[in-house]
Amino acid sequence: MQTIDKFNFAGKKAFVRVDFNVPLDENFNITDDTRMRAALPTLKKILADGGSIIIGSHLGRPKGVADKFSLKHIIKHLSELLGVEVQFANDCMGEEAAVKAAALQPGEVLLLENLRFYAEEEGKPRGLAEDATDEEKAAAKKAVKESQKEFTKKLASYADCYVNDAFGTAHRAHASTALIAKYFDTDNKMFGYLMEKEVKAVDKVLNDIQRPFTAIMGGSKVSTKIGIIENLMDKVDNLILCGGMAFTFAKAQGGKIGNSLVEDDKLQLALDIIEKAKAKGVNLVLGCDCIAADKFANDANTQVCDDKNIPDGWMGLDAGPKTREEFKAAIKGAKTILWNGPAGVFEMDNFAGGSKAIAEAIAEATKEGAFSLIGGGDSVACINKFGMADQVSYISTGGGALLEAIEGKILPGIAAIRGDK
Ligand code: AMP
Repeated sequence: MQTIDKFNFAGKKAFVRVDFNVPLDENFNITDDTRMRAALPTLKKILADGGSIIIGSHLGRPKGVADKFSLKHIIKHLSELLGVEVQFANDCMGEEAAVKAAALQPGEVLLLENLRFYAEEEGKPRGLAEDATDEEKAAAKKAVKESQKEFTKKLASYADCYVNDAFGTAHRAHASTALIAKYFDTDNKMFGYLMEKEVKAVDKVLNDIQRPFTAIMGGSKVSTKIGIIENLMDKVDNLILCGGMAFTFAKAQGGKIGNSLVEDDKLQLALDIIEKAKAKGVNLVLGCDCIAADKFANDANTQVCDDKNIPDGWMGLDAGPKTREEFKAAIKGAKTILWNGPAGVFEMDNFAGGSKAIAEAIAEATKEGAFSLIGGGDSVACINKFGMADQVSYISTGGGALLEAIEGKILPGIAAIRGDK
């Protein structure tokens, strides 16, 4: 497999797929440029080698051309970050893009307009009438798949080599994230540095595991995490299940959970998970107490109670003190740690303590040599809220992509480069 470090970009044009799907305020100012900064090592290496870059990205979820989703809003900031005047093609297809790409000189950068202005990027039909028949839907799907080939080929024609640095979209088999790779031979396609780091981090928790391995899964629902829980069950030594989903387990075991979050149709599933953990010798940590509140608000009255004996009208919004000790015990001494999902309603300061206890235990274990991977949405927000991002080994930039990877799914964006089957 080709690697970005080995590749010499001198005199080459690289099509680099990045994830510049950054949040913008109402005046189109970038409110968080983390994703842009994350791609800089890759972009700078190409320029330092004497290569030129054609950048492809999506922004938001446009259903066609829409000014508010134009990547023109980021040109200025990208130019500042790179120290190069970034050129822009108003359309990722068509004459302008082709001419500007062809004229690129070493050291120059061309940003293409939002790839998702075209339905072909995602390969999903648009504008279908709500009452479209199955036949019409199938015909529209076939048509967009057909034109997607031309779209992909055109994007590929701009460049000599392809670099995928967009981990955030690696779980999508889109034109620029996966399909394009087939137009480049093995020596001319590679991951960017960000993608390489993400792939390595996932590998450490799925394949190259140092034991003991503790996974912490939290958040609101067990239903959205079941694929991950099942895949991890074969790999972990300790599995902490916390947050709102813990109450589905408490109720399934006959507990009284008041108004706590629950998925009543997942009670049997919860019992099956408990059985599976026993059968596999996994230490399942479900907690035993919680901080219950009399309303869903930061200024609610609170009490510590048994998580299977919550008074009527009260709801468990965070892990209790004994549960936090159980978390700490399962994290202490771990050599591999994966954390996805908070242990409580961390957005409210009074219910952030359980998640904070987890973050602190992870930081401590990391100091002792553990590899800790945090990822998938809210746990990243959590670790940032506590100002502890620099005390863990790796924070993934990919929400959905990371979750699918730890579910054990093959990600099209990775497979397209690495040839996974
Ligand atoms: P998810 O998107 O499934 O990862 O869930 C994250 C959300 O779960 C966060 O917004 C938390 O506030 C919420 N959450 C965590 N614990 C609880 C709880 N005990 N009750 C209600 N919501 C919770």
